[in-house]
Amino acid sequence: MTPEHTHINPDFKLNRTNNTDIKKLFAGIKEHDTLSLSKAITLIESNNKKHRSIASELIKLCLPLSGKSWRIGITGTPGAGKSTLIEALGNYYCELGKKIAVLAIDPSSTITKGSILGDKTRMEKLSVNPRAFIRPSASAGTLGGVARATSEAILLCEAAGYEIIMIETVGVGQSETEVHNMVDLFILLTGPAAGDELQGIKRGIMEMADIILVNKYDGDLKTAAKNSLNQIKNALHLFPPRADNWMVKAALVSALYNEGIENISKIIDNYFLHQQAYNSIEEKRKKQELYRLNKYIEQSLFNHFINSEKAKKLLDEAKKSILLQKSNAYLEADKILNSILKF
Ligand code: GDP
Repeated sequence: MTPEHTHINPDFKLNRTNNTDIKKLFAGIKEHDTLSLSKAITLIESNNKKHRSIASELIKLCLPLSGKSWRIGITGTPGAGKSTLIEALGNYYCELGKKIAVLAIDPSSTITKGSILGDKTRMEKLSVNPRAFIRPSASAGTLGGVARATSEAILLCEAAGYEIIMIETVGVGQSETEVHNMVDLFILLTGPAAGDELQGIKRGIMEMADIILVNKYDGDLKTAAKNSLNQIKNALHLFPPRADNWMVKAALVSALYNEGIENISKIIDNYFLHQQAYNSIEEKRKKQELYRLNKYIEQSLFNHFINSEKAKKLLDEAKKSILLQKSNAYLEADKILNSILKF
């Protein structure tokens, strides 16, 4: 990665950030300066109250410049080839003259402090492409905080002129739902899997996907990939029609050997044309914004509650009663809620 792609700029003093810096950051973002964009993302990732309030000023400035990109989510189990696909698709779009930003949500990073994009050898070509901006995942915090940071990072990237924003997430846990609720197009990537493995892809994730890709359609894996594709197509027939009338597409690709990338880009074009014809993107984004409003309040209230000393004490007592089988979950939960919320 080149210095401008390094996600944390050591010279950026987050603690001393003030409104003048915000104006400078905004000016930089407007001029499509990647260093300003990096600093701005570092700021919005902070959960510190003072930073939040300064960051909200920046978000307000950027909002009118945002909303014009294609927001694409890519999910799949580790090893399916997400990074390889983003590298291939990203370079393809860059060659077409587009500006690409890549963001990531990695739920495991809260535990390991690692990140799915942390390995610098990944996306080798894309990471040095001046038309691309790659940002490793927000590395810490609650899922609510990480989702907020990623949503806001999308806005900042849009304000900085990025036309296609790809958000990568590992296909585990709740992060798909979060990413699904911040993108226009949700792509599920799978490897050539045997029947059983394919069943392992949660139905819920398949239902969220707008496009399903079977990767590694190359060499010895070709037949397995084709079989997987057929199974997916059969499964798709059983899904009910969608409100937006989009027929979910499934296709083969070899991200590693760059085969099928143009075909994918055509499917993506068709998806956006279809959504445009139905005016669905705007409607989808409004619904997503409302979802996030509720979700963020819910998650923030919960975090606030769970971290308070009073709640910790009450929870400890409740746990003891439950483990001693003196009480049950709901009795204890009501007791805690009544004493804290006083409904
Ligand atoms: P991720 O964890 O989903 O991001 O997966 P990666 O992109 O890191 O890829 C996991 C492994 O699969 C790597 O060793 C890749 O080289 C390999 N891989 C990715 N795409 C392909 C492909 O199209 N064909 C083959 N044969 N291998 C691939």
